[in-house]
Order: sequence, then C-alpha cells, then structure tokens
Amino acid sequence: MADFKTHVTVAAVLSAPLAATCFIMGFANMNEAIFYALAGTFGGLLPDIDADDSAAIRLIFRLFGALAGGLAIAFGMDKLLHWQILALAIVSYLVVRFPIRWVFEQFTIHRGTLHSVLANIMFVILAVPAAYHLFALPEKTAWGIGAFVFLGATIHLVLDELYSIELSGMRIKRSFGTAMKITDWGEPLASILLVLGCVVGYWLSPSADAWLDTFAWWPEHETLATWLVQELKALPSLWS
Ligand SMILES: [Zn+2]
Repeated sequence: MADFKTHVTVAAVLSAPLAATCFIMGFANMNEAIFYALAGTFGGLLPDIDADDSAAIRLIFRLFGALAGGLAIAFGMDKLLHWQILALAIVSYLVVRFPIRWVFEQFTIHRGTLHSVLANIMFVILAVPAAYHLFALPEKTAWGIGAFVFLGATIHLVLDELYSIELSGMRIKRSFGTAMKITDWGEPLASILLVLGCVVGYWLSPSADAWLDTFAWWPEHETLATWLVQELKALPSLWS
C-alpha cells in the first residue's frame, strides 16, 4: 500500500501538468486550471478516507470541517449577528471534525467499498453538484473538477495495486486485487448505497453540455471510421 505522501505526490505530479495542458489548449482559464490541479490532488486522497486515523482521513475531515464553517458563514451573513455567525461556524467545523468523523469511522472498513471505482464515480458525481451549487461555479468548471477528482482517485487505486506487486522478486502480496475493484461485492448494501449516491448526485448535477461544445471538433460516432481513414491518408503528406 502506498503511503499518504506518495499518494499526494503522484496525484499532484500527474494532475498539475494535465491541468496546465487544459489551460494551454484553451479548455480552462488560469483559475480553473488551478482548481483542476487541486481537485486531482484531493481526489488522490479520497479512497483512503475509510482508513481510520490515517493522515488522509484527518486532512479530509479538516477540509470538510472548514467547508462547513465557510458555508455556515455564508448562510448566516445577513441573518445573524456577528458573534452568532462565528459561533455557528466554529460549531459546524467541530461537528464535522469529531462526531461526524467518528460515526463515519464506525461504518467504514479500510479497503472496503469506498476504495473502489464505483466509489470514485460517486465522489465525482457528488463533487460536481457541490462545486456548482455550493460554490456557484459554472457548469463546465464543475464537471472539469469532477473529471479531475476521478482522475486523482483512480490514480490512487492503480498506485495501491502497483505497490502490492514486489518488483524485485515478482511476488504478489496478498493485498493484490483489493485496491482496484469495481466495488466490494461482499458488501452488497454498501454498494447499493453508492449507486444511490450516484443517482442522487447525478440528479443534482448541472448539465455537462458545455463540455460537448469544447469537443465539437470530435467527429460523430458514425463518421468516426471515415474520419480516421481520412486522417491516416493525410498523415503521409506531413512528411512530403
Ligand atoms: Zn489506498
């Protein structure tokens, strides 16, 4: 199993250049590219959210706590007195960090259902409406963040799987196959909850059509074959 530091580093090292590419290609502005790089790095930590008392869970619940505090401030801004807003923000932060985290830890097993591709899809489909509704980001940016969260979280699974192969002796550790999985079939109820989370998240998500325009130059399915043939025929002319 790869450790926290490795996960953060690899996720950041792969997300940052990709986000920069989005900026260079004109798919994202500077702010969006920064969000994307952060989303990819954050996604790289998410699968280990089920590891009790890991650095990942501490950091993630601190971030969620700060998020809850920030939302409490935004909510109370013109409804409450200053000291009340402050108290509400502190209470929100503490509630997320301690009781909610405690309950979460009781219900999750490390490398269980949350350490799977299905969970990654759910993380995305929850991140998109959160970015759109809570942070009032445009639809396109919200889906871009979702894509990077998925990228980071999937890199995490691949990395864990790679760590279970001992390259020197080509031996495979017993943990092989526990990291990269569609879902944990041994926990059908949890898997159903993930699917439900995906459905609710998708229902709350804005339309992803903005990205379709970005890829408008991409040919239709039916014409893809003809397009490929044309492009291949055109290739030799590059050298002539
Ligand atoms: Zn992991």
